[in-house]
Amino acid sequence: MDCIFCKIIEGTIPSNKVFENDKVIAFHDIQPAAPVHVLIIPKKHIPTMNDVGEEDGELIAEIFSAARQIAKEMGVAESGYRLINNCNAEGGQVVYHLHLHLLGGKKLGSLLG
Ligand code: 5GP
Ligand code: ZN
Repeated sequence: MDCIFCKIIEGTIPSNKVFENDKVIAFHDIQPAAPVHVLIIPKKHIPTMNDVGEEDGELIAEIFSAARQIAKEMGVAESGYRLINNCNAEGGQVVYHLHLHLLGGKKLGSLLG
């Protein structure tokens, strides 16, 4: 499959991993938009948020659990951080393998203007 994140999971593309368990991995974004910018992804190839099924409830919980753990380890749990999912073209999605961006380490601007 021609998916960059599946290749990162397989290890054929290197990444700077910060978390891994049987269902989820997380690694530093190659083009960080903040001092802390980690991508959290399921090992299962789910293209977009729209493709998350009822059967994925536990997996989504695992992703959020990983996010909490990583925020703590990166030292931003108390100062604050943001989790973002971009869905499809107008949402700004570029890589079509479900991921959460964890951003922190600075005061983030308002997204809502
Ligand atoms: P999206 O716009 O799809 O929500 O975000 C995709 C993110 O993946 C971007 O922030 C981009 O910098 C990151 N990215 C793309 N290719 C790679 C890669 O090969 N390695 C890593 N670590 N991040 C990547
Ligand atoms: Zn994939």
